[in-house]
Amino acid sequence: MLFFIFTTGLCNLRCDYCGGSFPEKLVPAKPTYDIGSLIKFMEDAGSVSIVFYGGEPLLNARFISKFMDSFDAERYIIQTNGLLVDRLEPVYWRRIDTVLISIDGVEYATDKHRGSGVYSAVVRSARKLRLLGFDGDLVARMTVTEDTDIYRDVLHLLELGLFDHIHWQLNVVWAPPWSSFDRWCETYLHGLRNLLDLWIYKVKMEGKILGIAPFQGCLKRILEGGLYPPCEAGVEAYAISTDGSILACPIAVDVDWGRLGDIHSDRLDTLKAAPRIGKPCISCIEFKVCGGRCLYAYMEKLWGMDGFRKVCDMTLSMISLLRNRLHIVRDTLKSYGISLNSILYPLFNNSIEIIP
Ligand code: SF4
Ligand code: SF4
Repeated sequence: MLFFIFTTGLCNLRCDYCGGSFPEKLVPAKPTYDIGSLIKFMEDAGSVSIVFYGGEPLLNARFISKFMDSFDAERYIIQTNGLLVDRLEPVYWRRIDTVLISIDGVEYATDKHRGSGVYSAVVRSARKLRLLGFDGDLVARMTVTEDTDIYRDVLHLLELGLFDHIHWQLNVVWAPPWSSFDRWCETYLHGLRNLLDLWIYKVKMEGKILGIAPFQGCLKRILEGGLYPPCEAGVEAYAISTDGSILACPIAVDVDWGRLGDIHSDRLDTLKAAPRIGKPCISCIEFKVCGGRCLYAYMEKLWGMDGFRKVCDMTLSMISLLRNRLHIVRDTLKSYGISLNSILYPLFNNSIEIIP
């Protein structure tokens, strides 16, 4: 089971995707519970993966080290903006399996939305993490906006040679509907096609697998299926806010359906059931692969049904691109003695959401 643990509701940035810190009332600046209560709550969960989350989790690095001193999770993961890596001692970085670090692609695309100088700072931090002895999976986590050229930006991050995987999420939840969304979608699909061709070309010519998480993750779901939603929100993944409340998804802090209980008064088996993905997804031709994409987006539909369907079109097109090339991928890998199964990603739920 996966638990996102908010170490703080504060953030040291104000990216325009989310606006920075949470109000104290919604997500307090520090955990108001003691770590023992949290550990007690998790004791029925079996094998546990922990994602340190915020706000910016490293603003409360002391909580992270204290927690890691008190609990032996199967996997540790952190989602960070990458500006404060010095706050956590190297000994803890070395125990972390996956670091998801926010960067949107080229400098312009990153700094325009995250703030001036953020790109350079993140690149420095990614290098530093390796020097500190982190040898796990370093994932560049992009937010994709009108300013993104998916081919240019993913290629740029790959060419930096710092990241094991690149993952992206479309900025289509809280952002107001983009004025140029329809036109942008055409460019996005064109870029995706080129990126997939490049991915296959690299396998063909060099037997090299570029770490493009949405491709590898979708292939995994095409072959193996999986839970829905793919992030497992409210099924096998929960978030613990700083006030001890238990959420179906880490961004569902201000919606009734998202609040499932509390670490003080609940056990895993007494939590309110999270909503499940239903219509129209369950009758969608690609439900097995897409899995309803995102529980929060499904429940809130902040772009209305029309906007929801437009995002579905992007998802369905990406899955179709992959399906159409599946035999080429399989044959090419075979010629290098690589099995398709061995390149599927992620091996465990590391909090990438798979479907962009
Ligand atoms: S593509 Fe759309 S309708 Fe189909 S499963 Fe995904 S979110 Fe649901
Ligand atoms: S994909 Fe959606 S439901 Fe899942 S964790 Fe992310 S925001 Fe929450």
